[in-house]
Amino acid sequence: MNFEDLYQDIILDHSRRPRNFGELPDADRHINGNNPMCGDDVTVHLKLDGDKVSAVKFTGNGCSICMASASLMTLKTKNKTAAEAKALADDFTTKLTGPADVDLPEEMGDLRVLGGVRKFPQRVKCATLPWHALQEALG
Ligand code: ZN
Repeated sequence: MNFEDLYQDIILDHSRRPRNFGELPDADRHINGNNPMCGDDVTVHLKLDGDKVSAVKFTGNGCSICMASASLMTLKTKNKTAAEAKALADDFTTKLTGPADVDLPEEMGDLRVLGGVRKFPQRVKCATLPWHALQEALG
């Protein structure tokens, strides 16, 4: 399977069946992010248990890139410490706004497919939006 197929598969899968999508009534923080250029409007709901991200969910509407990125974000940050989640968000958003020919590190797993949006600069914001909301929630 080549990268383009993998990219399509993972993005479509997560945008059609976003993981951890929905309200989180006992969340400690709700941070909204929106991208008027595309129409993405997502709210990240975060629950901290001490220093641990014990639950993270999201609500809202966005394009397939935004929804897939938010879905992957919840999977990658749940049960991490706040510092680990923030470090991943910082690393991911920095790499996504960097040069397109730099591969994302292997430990990012499925998140690496989102590196493909760097070829489409106007879509980078779609992918980073949920992560910026998370950074703000953890900030
Ligand atoms: Zn978008």
